[in-house]
Amino acid sequence: MKNRSEKLRPCLGRLRPYVAGKGFREISRKFGLSPETIVKLGSNENPYGPSPKVAEALKNVSPERYPEPEDLMAGLSSYTGYPQEMIVIGAGMDGVMDTLTRLFLGPGDQTFIPTPTFSYYEILTTMAGATPTFFPRGPEFEVTTEIPRRVKMAFICSPNNPTGNVTTEDDVRAMVEGTEAIVFLDEAYVEFADRSLLELVADYENLIVGRTMSKAFGLAGMRLGYAIVPQWIADEYRRAAPPFFGITCASVAAGVAALSDLDFMRLYVERIRAERGRLQKEIRSHPTQANFFYIETAEPSNVFVEKFLQKGVIIRDCRSFRGAGEHHARVTVGTPTENDRFLSAFREICA
Ligand code: PMP
Repeated sequence: MKNRSEKLRPCLGRLRPYVAGKGFREISRKFGLSPETIVKLGSNENPYGPSPKVAEALKNVSPERYPEPEDLMAGLSSYTGYPQEMIVIGAGMDGVMDTLTRLFLGPGDQTFIPTPTFSYYEILTTMAGATPTFFPRGPEFEVTTEIPRRVKMAFICSPNNPTGNVTTEDDVRAMVEGTEAIVFLDEAYVEFADRSLLELVADYENLIVGRTMSKAFGLAGMRLGYAIVPQWIADEYRRAAPPFFGITCASVAAGVAALSDLDFMRLYVERIRAERGRLQKEIRSHPTQANFFYIETAEPSNVFVEKFLQKGVIIRDCRSFRGAGEHHARVTVGTPTENDRFLSAFREICA
């Protein structure tokens, strides 16, 4: 076909593809390692997986039926303490953000993105035909609380991916109160942190808190996310969302089961937090409240990360995060055995 590029939307030319952490298969092929020996600490997953109730629930899924979200909404309502009218769901928090940006962003609009941070905010902004504006974080990775007047939507990630720090309640309130923009507070990793700011949604008309079942609940493969939003936004969301919100019978069953076993989630979050403390004693990382830590590398981060990959330890090179520079890597906290593998590689590589 001629003139393919004329058919495509021009904003595509401004996009770099989302770079995900490397997978078992890719590293196994590249370095000739057997997949069972590989330790994957590059994608901020939960190595313990979900409650055993999830496997039970998946046995009873009816794949021939469309999903029914009622039980999931009830579970999310009791977990978050918010009424169902203020909860929206989607295929991962990514899916929720996709629908939300379609509500608010179009050509000529601007978004506020403190860097380095999760790169999907930039991709969504650009795909909407809007323009991302980037604000480098401070020395402790804090965000500037002054959102320029022309901004339509601001993305604050707390704990922030990849730096691990949180934004304080005072700073979030200052931002939300000082702007007409919609503030999207991404709490994907909040269960690993000391506290959540979910309660703030009740106080404002322009604050959204995004959440996911992918991290603490161990359901990354199910693609299930949600957000707590002011009711006026929930009403619009239901108009613009894809049919069935992008959820599936399997993701609903898994989500309901995981939410019915909060003790399981909390037990393993506690283990991950304990391991995080153990690792931090040995690795000089920046302070973190997430299930990962952000380290500075003396040599270029791709060279550093490659040495780990050769040893079958997958960690994340942060060069693909805008504003992270060339000397940062991100390491997910794994099980004690996985972390020992990381530590022994770290001792050899950094000796
Ligand atoms: N926000 C942040 C900060 C993330 O790191 C991720 C996962 N990479 C997401 C959102 C998306 O999570 P989900 O798996 O729910 O789409």
